[in-house]
Amino acid sequence: MKDIFKVAIDGPSGAGKSTIAKAVAKNLGIDYVDTGAMYRAVGYKASSRGVSPEDREAVKHLMEDTDIDFADGDIILDGEIINDKIRTPEISKAASLYSAIPEVREKLVELQKEMARKSDVVMDGRDIGTCVLPEADVKVYLTASSLVRARRRYRELTEKGIACDLKEIEQDILDRDHRDMHREHSPLVQAEDAVYLDSSDMTLDQVVDAIGRLIDQKIDGQAGGRP
Ligand code: C5P
Repeated sequence: MKDIFKVAIDGPSGAGKSTIAKAVAKNLGIDYVDTGAMYRAVGYKASSRGVSPEDREAVKHLMEDTDIDFADGDIILDGEIINDKIRTPEISKAASLYSAIPEVREKLVELQKEMARKSDVVMDGRDIGTCVLPEADVKVYLTASSLVRARRRYRELTEKGIACDLKEIEQDILDRDHRDMHREHSPLVQAEDAVYLDSSDMTLDQVVDAIGRLIDQKIDGQAGGRP
């Protein structure tokens, strides 16, 4: 029997991965790792220091001097909690731009593998099932139509009192999808052994339950089950 249980949830922006992955991890009583937050942290640091994504040497240098970790659900960049600073549309775009750079991916993928070596995890992102945890026990490719994803984001933002435009949000989502799916290094693709889940017509609870059933099947199927 394997010691460490790993769940990989990949998919495009706004498919609800983080909320769902967090709920799945809570139900299992294991750690959740939001890898998007790590790319956002790099986007935040590089853009606030004026390091251009085109300046590969400067980005490489910046990565050598960057420390990213999680503690009690907070994301820590070089010792500072940055949860709220990385959830803006500007940082979404910056994360997507810097995440295409191999030096950024190499460092973050290594950190993510290290986190998954230490404990059971649910990890969400774009390349978890294909690159970070190809050996994951359960892999899910979670998606929804771009309009449904835009409507969800629109609702989130308006609930926070942030004025926004649905068409613009959908266009941002489509642009990010395109960049994430067509970049040279670790583009967003469904792993061959991932289960495809379209959540367009599903509630959050239904998606969490569906993933819970996949996990139960896997656990039941593993020799000896789990303690
Ligand atoms: O998941 P989230 O929207 O927070 O991710 C922000 C950006 O980080 C994505 O648009 C993507 O470009 C990048 N990302 C990535 N690989 C991951 C997670 C996120 O390239 N594993």
